[in-house]
Parts: sequence; structure tokens; C-alpha cells
Amino acid sequence: MRCPFCAHDDSQVKDSRPTEDNSAIRRRRQCGGCGARFTTFERVQLREITVIKSDGTRQSFDRSKIEQSVSLACRKRSVDGEKIDRLVSGVQRQVETLGESEVSSLAIGEMVMEGLRQVDSVAYIRFASVYRDFSEASDFADFASTVRGVSAG
Ligand SMILES: [Zn+2]
Repeated sequence: MRCPFCAHDDSQVKDSRPTEDNSAIRRRRQCGGCGARFTTFERVQLREITVIKSDGTRQSFDRSKIEQSVSLACRKRSVDGEKIDRLVSGVQRQVETLGESEVSSLAIGEMVMEGLRQVDSVAYIRFASVYRDFSEASDFADFASTVRGVSAG
């Protein structure tokens, strides 16, 4: 954690304990550069993540939007709702684990693709073709050929 006084990149945790209501961890730190002491708080952060879309617009992270696009990709495939829910939860957890307040929709798309690939290859290709916006038929054929067990047609 960078020192707020001298911007030194390294500080040592001297003390670490939960706040009274247990909603956060308070850490006392000491700067390795100037020796100043300061406090940081570690909290669970939900729903405060901003997604930056490829056109630069921003919107707050919305789990239901991911769920929608995954469900759409899985339409008429034998993927049960529980699997979809697990996949979406996995993506949400990954996004939260990044610890960033801003995440690109591109990064989220990659996470969804990674999850879908393990669930259903057709759903994976459907999602990827929308998400990657294949402009050339050959792009799509190249991509499809990398997916096991699915013919590019
Ligand atoms: Zn310092």
C-alpha cells in the first residue's frame, strides 16, 4: 500500500483487527520510506463496481445482465439453470476479486467465455460470436475450429 505522505510503495502492517461491527478490517500501517503511520480499511465491496463498455460508456456492474446474456447463449441447450447460476456467480466473484472499482466489459466477456467453454460448446460459440463481433465468416470459422467437438459448418 502506497504511503499517502511520501508515496513510497511499501508499507508494513503493524496491527490488523476487525472494526466493532465486524464489517471491515482495520490495518495500522507504517511506511518503509518515511516511517509515517496510517490506517487502511478492508471491506467487502458489492455492487459498487463500474463496467466500462467498449464504446466508453459506463454503467454499474449488474449481475442480471450477465445472467441474461448467458441464458440467451444457452437457449435450447441442455444447460440447467443451476449451472448458469454457478457460472454467473463465478464471474461475479472473479470481478469482485479483482479489487478494482472499474472493470472493462471486455474483461467480463472473457470471464463469461471461459466459463461457458466448460459448460456447453455451442453456447460458448454463440456468446463469442456476439461478443467478438466476427466481421468475416473466415474469422468465425477459425474460431469455431478451435472449439473441440463442434463443426464450423
Ligand atoms: Zn512514507
